[in-house]
Amino acid sequence: MRLILLGPPGAGKGTQASRLVEKHGIPQLSTGDMLRAAVKAGTPVGLKAKAVMEAGGLVSDEIVVGIIADRFDEPDAKKGFILDGFPRTVAQAEALDKMLAQKGLKLDGIIELKVDEAALLARIKNRADETIKAGGTVRADDNPDAFKVRLDAYRAQTAPVSAYYAGKGALKQVDGMLPIDAVTKAIDAALGG
Ligand code: AMP
Repeated sequence: MRLILLGPPGAGKGTQASRLVEKHGIPQLSTGDMLRAAVKAGTPVGLKAKAVMEAGGLVSDEIVVGIIADRFDEPDAKKGFILDGFPRTVAQAEALDKMLAQKGLKLDGIIELKVDEAALLARIKNRADETIKAGGTVRADDNPDAFKVRLDAYRAQTAPVSAYYAGKGALKQVDGMLPIDAVTKAIDAALGG
């Protein structure tokens, strides 16, 4: 199964993706996680991405498309994947279409988590509090200033990705304001049970 999870920052994509990983036995491909790992490791990609990520902006299409292309070639991605945080621009969605077409592959589901924007900042604050409670390190971009930039980037560059897939008749929308378990059920239903 090959899936895409769309939705603004704080919509719950990561939470739902980990549940889909368990249910379907396919990996979660989060470009955000991959970029954070690259920043931590100080790789050339990480060095390029660090400042823009901390400010809440988008890393270049070229970098993220390259990361995803490499990740698709790893053995665990052969049986399917859940894309979380990619594609984030229409150019990335077009690059993804090309990559899949070259491999003779198709997407099985594109799910958008619809959330009330007013609730998102509170969710991000909650995520930061939970991380601190668990003894972890809060993401450098989980703060009100960077969050505003992330939301602006979402509106300007990522919302058109939903329209791109909706135009192809491929988009399924799920109410992301429901409790976590109910969102999981709604996603299962959207994928045909
Ligand atoms: P996320 O963990 O998905 O919220 O991503 C964290 C940050 O990584 C984003 O705010 C961007 O700076 C960067 N990022 C992750 N995925 C992408 C992508 N597909 N395109 C551009 N930038 C990305």
